[in-house]
Parts: sequence; structure tokens; C-alpha cells
Amino acid sequence: MTQEEVFKTLVAHAKEYGFIFQSSEIYDGLSAVYDYGQMGVEMKNNIKKYWWEAMVHLNDNIVGIDSAIFMHPRIWEASGHVGAFNDPLIDNKDSKKRYRADVLIEEYLAKLEEKMNKEVEKGRRKFGDAFNEEQFRATNPNVLRSKTKYDEVHARMTKALNDNDLKELRQIIVDCEIACPISGTKNWTDVRQFNLMFSTQLGNVDGGVGTIYLRPETAQGIFVNFLNVQKTGRMKVPFGIAQIGKAFRNEIVARQFIFRMREFEQMEMQFFVRPGEEMKWFSQWKQTRLAWHKALGLGDEKYRFHDHEKLAHYANAATDIEFEFPFGFKELEGIHSRTDFDLSQHQKFSGRKIQYFDPETNESYTPYVIETSIGLDRTFLAVLSSSYCEEALEGGETRVVLRLPACLAPVKLAVLPLVKKDGLPEKAREILDSLRFDFNCQYDEKDSIGKRYRRQDAIGTPYCITIDHDTLEDGCVTLRDRDTMVQERIPIGRLRDIVEERVSMKPLFKKIHKICG
Ligand code: ATP
Repeated sequence: MTQEEVFKTLVAHAKEYGFIFQSSEIYDGLSAVYDYGQMGVEMKNNIKKYWWEAMVHLNDNIVGIDSAIFMHPRIWEASGHVGAFNDPLIDNKDSKKRYRADVLIEEYLAKLEEKMNKEVEKGRRKFGDAFNEEQFRATNPNVLRSKTKYDEVHARMTKALNDNDLKELRQIIVDCEIACPISGTKNWTDVRQFNLMFSTQLGNVDGGVGTIYLRPETAQGIFVNFLNVQKTGRMKVPFGIAQIGKAFRNEIVARQFIFRMREFEQMEMQFFVRPGEEMKWFSQWKQTRLAWHKALGLGDEKYRFHDHEKLAHYANAATDIEFEFPFGFKELEGIHSRTDFDLSQHQKFSGRKIQYFDPETNESYTPYVIETSIGLDRTFLAVLSSSYCEEALEGGETRVVLRLPACLAPVKLAVLPLVKKDGLPEKAREILDSLRFDFNCQYDEKDSIGKRYRRQDAIGTPYCITIDHDTLEDGCVTLRDRDTMVQERIPIGRLRDIVEERVSMKPLFKKIHKICG
């Protein structure tokens, strides 16, 4: 299957099994907005729990908040979003399609990279064991030609973005002969800036109306509550404030399913540190966050850091944790050293003193901030896409299985009576009732046992138990493992502990804690 086909299959599967639906589907849908279905919401809640507990419960010095989506409009002036939260856009005059100019150039660069990698693979096949990749990259004329082009375009793009030079961005697109993927033509408009914030009107008591914004990030809700939390929680620097919540961006290039949405959810943590110590914390948080991702077991090779060439106006260091989605390596989480920009700006705009008195140094200062900001929906997509698997079984049969990390699976245990009679359903329900306080369980008595297993495989349920006639005699059930399909006979009394051990988040937390603690 091509990458595109894999992705299409995944989107169809997500819909068929109640993970994700297009928003407003019966009205032909609302673009780049999605609803989570009965399975999706369970998995999303599990991801939130994994993040929240790892952040807030595992760290003595991190606490959580839940701030409102609506905030005073001056906040977005102070943060720089009103003036500078823009994307550079370009339209193709023939297809009338709109693109982010920087994304078009990045895609061009990715193609050059792919070309170089293909050349290297060709060399590897040709030279076999004697192949020296470093030497090959340094001497092969085809690779060198692409590399020179890559470096030149990359440097021009970085400079144009840093200088906010829209004419130059367009010129790069023209010089690289980048064509619109829809019309195939190079008939481009000028590049313009487009603000990404959604606005709405708030009625005032005096009858007037004011413009307010739907928050484009959750971070500002944390900054404006810095003093509240620090004082009431008696927090001492270094400390962090975490939050999970909705954010809204009027994304123009809104494709790739839940990767880029107009309404999405972020899990953000702002860590306040002494000025001058931010680089130490920046590198520590890079390691901690990578460990959190890797503990999920989706494959260490699927993650990489990508340091930013263009720093945002507030940052003195920034990196992305990228994940290998079906459409390539893309940003999953951002880690930014935000200096004292946000707190200083809010001090300036609100007129309130926002400082911290450090009892160890006897000094007052504006803390510096390390931010970790991860998209909940993108994490969902990362988990879903890397878990989807079509498997050939013995006897020519196939099965679709979601090899989800067990702790994130929507349903942990399916309870299946072998037949719908002879007291088996009653026994199954009795077992279900004793386990529903511990796990999200599902009862299913319809169709053959094979079909029921397939349904559970397709939603990623790690364990199924079957209740058969022997169960009534020996008090044992058959426990089937989703991944190995191995079946073991287990006494009912031991079920809870066995399943608990296998679906718990605890081993993951211990792993992270060991690496980072
Ligand atoms: P991108 O470069 O992909 O637009 P960004 O750098 O603007 O992302 P941040 O502002 O750093 O993103 O936001 C932090 C995280 O929020 C991102 O790493 C991503 O996981 C998530 N995120 C940002 N925009 C969206 C979106 N439109 N839809 C879904 N998730 C998003």
C-alpha cells in the first residue's frame, strides 16, 4: 500500500469502529473539525490521564489548573498573538487553492532529502559490505548536487522567515519551480500574512460589544495565573503549572485528518526557573519528554528532535519532538525556552507586578520559562497510526488488529459467553459486574466467538475472556491475548490481578521515573 492508501484505510477504520467522525457529517461536514466517538473518547481520556499523572502526580513541584477559554483581549496583545500570530500564505491562481508558503518550500526540501537517501540506498546495494555511507555522501556527485541545492534553499528560507521577507519567500517558490499539486501550474499570487486567531463578540453591560478571541494556545491561561498559583500553592522556583484544554486556530492548510485541526486540544506545562538556569532545564525537559513518549512502546526509531532555525519572538531555544506519521516525520510536541517574555509582557500590559522572591538568594526576579506543549489529537493519531496492523493468519484468513499500548486501549477486557444459553450469559454478567469497577469492560454475546474476537482486535482490546460450560464446573475462564492470540485457562479469582498487571500505566510511570528521577 502507498502512504496515501495506508492513511485512507486508517481514517476509514477510525470511523467504522467509533473512534473519530467528521464533525457535522449529516450536513456534509465542517472542514478540519472532528468529533471523537465512543471508542475515541475513551482512548483520548487515557492519553490525558497518562500525561496528567506523569506531569502532575509524579512531580512534587508541578501542579495543574483548568483556565477558561475566553480571556481578556489585552492578553493576546501582550502575548504578541494579535500582532504576530500569522502564517505566510500564497494562492495558486488556477486551482484557487491556498498554501502556506513555508510549507511548500519545506515539502520541496523533503523531496531533495528523499532523493539523496535513495541515491545512498542505491550505493549501499551496489557496494554491499564495503559501503561507507559518510564517504559516499561526501563524494557522490548526485548527492552533492542535491545537498548544495538543499543548503542553499534552506538558508534562503530561514533568512526570509526571520526577516519576515514575503517577497523573498515567493521568489524562492518561483526559483525552485514549485508547482501547485492540484493544477500543476506555477501561477502564484503574492505572499500575504494571515492571522490565525478566531474572534467573536462579547456583549458589554453598557450595550456595547467588544472583540474577544478563542484562545490559540492554553499557555497564556497559565501565565496570567502565575501569581495565584505560586502564592496559594506556596510554590518555590523551580516549579511547573500544567493544563489540558482546547485551543483554536484558523488553520488554512487544514489537511491530514486530526493532525491539523481548527479546534484541538493541547497538553501544556510551563516550568518556571531562575534566570540563567533555563538551558539546563531545557535539556532536562527534552530528555524527560522523550522518555514519556518512548515508554509507550510505539518504537524508539519513530521519534527524533528537530531544532528550530527560526525562533519565535519569545524564545531563546526551541525544539520539536517529531514523530513518524504515515505521511512522514512531523511535529508532535514543542519544547521552548520562552525566557521571561510572557511574564514581563503581562506585567507591562496589566500594570501588576509579576515577580518572585527567591528565599535562597534573597532576590526578586521574573522567572524564566521552559514550555512543553504537546497536541493531544496528534498524540492520538501517532498512537492510532502506529498501532494499525493487517495480519495474515494461518488458513488464508486475515485480521485487522490495533496493537495499542494496553494502558491506552478504550476497552481493556471483553467478556464473551461461548453460547447464549445454558446459564453462560448469567455467569458472564456476574464476572463483568465484579470487574467493571476496575476496568472498562465490554460484554458481547452476538455472533460466533471468532467474529467477536475480530471485533475486539479491531478496537484494540488487549484481553478477551470466554465463559464456557467448563467455567460452571471449574470456575476458570479462557483468557485470550490480542497480540499473540495465545489462550490460557485462568481461575476467575485471579482475573482482576492478571489483567490489572498487564493494562496498568504503572510500569510506564516507573520507567519514566527511573530515567528522569
Ligand atoms: P505546526 O508547526 O504544525 O503548525 P506549531 O509549531 O504551530 O505547529 P505549537 O504552537 O508549538 O504548534 O503547538 C504545540 C502543539 O500543539 C504542537 O506540537 C501540536 O502537537 C499541537 N497543535 C498545534 N496546532 C495544531 C492543530 N492545528 N491541530 C492539532 N494539533 C495542533
